[in-house]
Amino acid sequence: MNHTWANIETLQPRVAKMLIRSIEKNRLAHAYLLEGSKGTGKTKVALLLAKSYFCQNRDDGRAEPCLICMDCKRIDNGNHPDLHMIEPDGLSIKKQQVEHLQKEFTYRGMESKQKVYIVHHADKMTASAANSLLKFLEEPEAPTLALLLTERANAILPTIQSRSQPLSFQPLPREGFLQSLREKEIPNVTAHLLASLTTSFEEAIVLSEGDWIAQARTVVIQLMSELYERPEQSFFTVQEKWVPLFKEKHEQELGLEMILLWLRDLFYTQVGKDVETFVDQTNVLQQQALSSSQEKINKSMGAVVKAKQYLHAHVAHQLLMEKLLLDIQEG
Ligand SMILES: [Zn+2]
Repeated sequence: MNHTWANIETLQPRVAKMLIRSIEKNRLAHAYLLEGSKGTGKTKVALLLAKSYFCQNRDDGRAEPCLICMDCKRIDNGNHPDLHMIEPDGLSIKKQQVEHLQKEFTYRGMESKQKVYIVHHADKMTASAANSLLKFLEEPEAPTLALLLTERANAILPTIQSRSQPLSFQPLPREGFLQSLREKEIPNVTAHLLASLTTSFEEAIVLSEGDWIAQARTVVIQLMSELYERPEQSFFTVQEKWVPLFKEKHEQELGLEMILLWLRDLFYTQVGKDVETFVDQTNVLQQQALSSSQEKINKSMGAVVKAKQYLHAHVAHQLLMEKLLLDIQEG
């Protein structure tokens, strides 16, 4: 629970360095937009920033809060009187939610004049809620720090975007992600596939439920192996194994993504880099790399991207796959 800037720096180096410097120089902006996918540390950073902001024992010119004073403790316990969390009420964050907090401040004897707002899912703010919050930031007698968190930066209202400083959270390093998946007893080869398909830990866990992902992986390997060895066989595999397994549109999309990942591994093999996804297939990939070229692989990847676009047109899936196999063969 007790995060420090030193350990945030290993998780999100760019964001940490930026904030540490601003705290040390006493030059924090009024509003930050923390953007990045789930599980990248946005809430951790917001809470730590609130500690640095309120901590009574923090030395001038140092970013780390003491973690033991009343302010630091209260932030940990979720009952700091000047730190406010706003979350969507139903589908949106409404003006009344922000106004309610404003009133609360006025009525209650406040401990300090400083306030911090942490807004979760800030993309869900209505325009009037956003304006109401932004008005706070301009009151010089009550210093306010707004930390707006979002997984969907492009859905943030332009008024918020133009008045807050963006902090872009990077997906967690692959090795850490793999380690967390293995701790959930997901087999290593499946973990590698999941880590290539998504940067969201929650999504990876959902995908790993049941044995669909393992079956899908097996079919992709079979299909791609046949395509380079005995291409006529691959059409039967599409009909007999692919079509029954990749039924829903999102499954078909994942299937094409896996083919793309195979081709990317093939490309890595071709240029002498380590295989990233199909880590137990290096022998097959090396064989295929011998009879392929970078140009051919690039063309094949282009064909898969095109097939992904056609998923949303009304094309029978088997037809789409057969066309793709032909495109990859001809390269
Ligand atoms: Zn403290």
